[in-house]
Amino acid sequence: MRIVLLGAPGSGKGTQAKQLVDHYGVVQISTGDLLRAAVASGSELGLAAKAAMAAGQLVSDDIVLGMIKERLSQPDTQRGYILDGFPRNLAQAAALDTLLDGMNQSLQAAISLEVPFDDLMHRLTDRQTCANCGAIFNRSTHPSAVPDVCDLCGGPLVQRADDNAATVRHRLTVFEAQTAPLIAYYQNQGKLARIDGTRPIDEITAKFHEVLAGLSR
Ligand code: AMP
Repeated sequence: MRIVLLGAPGSGKGTQAKQLVDHYGVVQISTGDLLRAAVASGSELGLAAKAAMAAGQLVSDDIVLGMIKERLSQPDTQRGYILDGFPRNLAQAAALDTLLDGMNQSLQAAISLEVPFDDLMHRLTDRQTCANCGAIFNRSTHPSAVPDVCDLCGGPLVQRADDNAATVRHRLTVFEAQTAPLIAYYQNQGKLARIDGTRPIDEITAKFHEVLAGLSR
C-alpha cells in the first residue's frame, strides 16, 4: 500500500491513518509528527522548523523533502506506507512523484477526507492528543472516558501548541490556498478518491477499506 491522505487539519487523517496502520501492518508517515519530534529534540532541523509551525505556516519544502526522503529509505516502509500531512503543496507533490520514480515506486491513491470549514475550527480547538502514544481525542465529539487521560495507555492528554484559535484559522487558510489544489492534481492522475469526513469514525474507516480493496498493486 502506498497512499497519500489528503485533508485539512482536523479532518481526521491522523485518526484514520492509525486505524489503517493497525489493520494493514503498514507505516504512517506524518511530517507533522516528524517535525514535532525534531522540535522537541532541539535539533538543528527542529530549530529551523519551529517558528513556521508555531505560526501555522508551512515549513520549507527543502526541510520536509529531506525528511521524507530519509524516512522512505528505511526498511519498514517496504510493506507500504500512508503519507499523512505530506505533500502539502504542488511542489512537494511533484517532488514526491520524482522521488518515487527513482525508487521504482508510484503512489496508488490519494484519499481526500472532506469536512466543511466551520466544523474544522471546532474540531481543532477541542482536539487533545496523548503525550505518550499519540492517540487523538476531542473534548466534544470524541472525549476520553476519564477527562484528560488517554483511553488506550493512560497517558496525559494535551492540546497541541498550534491548536489555538488564531493559529488554527491560519492553518486552514494555508490549506485552502496551498494544499487543496492537490485534489485536482491527483484527480488528473486518476488517483483521487473522496470520503465524507463528517461521518462517524468507524463508518469512515469502512469507506477506507472499500477504497483500498479496489486498488491495484
Ligand atoms: P500537521 O501535524 O500535519 O497538522 O502539521 C503541523 C505543522 O507542521 C504544519 O502546520 C506545518 O507548519 C508543519 N508541516 C507538517 N507537514 C508539512 C509539510 N508537508 N510541509 C510543510 N510544513 C509541514
